[in-house]
Amino acid sequence: MRENESMAAGELDPRGVVTACPSCGQKNRLAYEQLGSTVRCARCKQNLAAPAAPVEVRQASDFDRLVAASALPVVVDYWAPWCGPCRMVAPELEKVAARQAGRLLVVKVNTDALTDLGQRFGIRSIPTLAVFAGGREVGRTAGARPAAEIEAFVFQAVGAPQR
Ligand SMILES: [Zn+2]
Repeated sequence: MRENESMAAGELDPRGVVTACPSCGQKNRLAYEQLGSTVRCARCKQNLAAPAAPVEVRQASDFDRLVAASALPVVVDYWAPWCGPCRMVAPELEKVAARQAGRLLVVKVNTDALTDLGQRFGIRSIPTLAVFAGGREVGRTAGARPAAEIEAFVFQAVGAPQR
């Protein structure tokens, strides 16, 4: 059950986001360099939907490859299980991921589990939201906020008109 739930949102591996095909269940990798492009299932040839839910980062090395290679802006939610405001922002990020599927990728970094990432990026308070585009961080803000404000912040950071 947990496996299925996590697969619905996708998982990062060193080369892309691995998602299960909604039609046949086949696991497919959406390469980081091709995020936002139309990709077909390797087995049934149906078009695969872009990731429409936040994806939990499990390894710092996956995170590094993602932000270096992603064709889409990456929104990073630095959070921890004990953080009340993080629980408030989590459903807002789910809305952003769903509404902006194919235009953004939302990932979550548990700073208790991935302490090296939190330290490397100097995360001092959570929740912190950061935006990576073109291989570098282009925006950062601390604190919980509603989905519409998150979207405005992200599109301002990447210099794109809000849609
Ligand atoms: Zn399929």
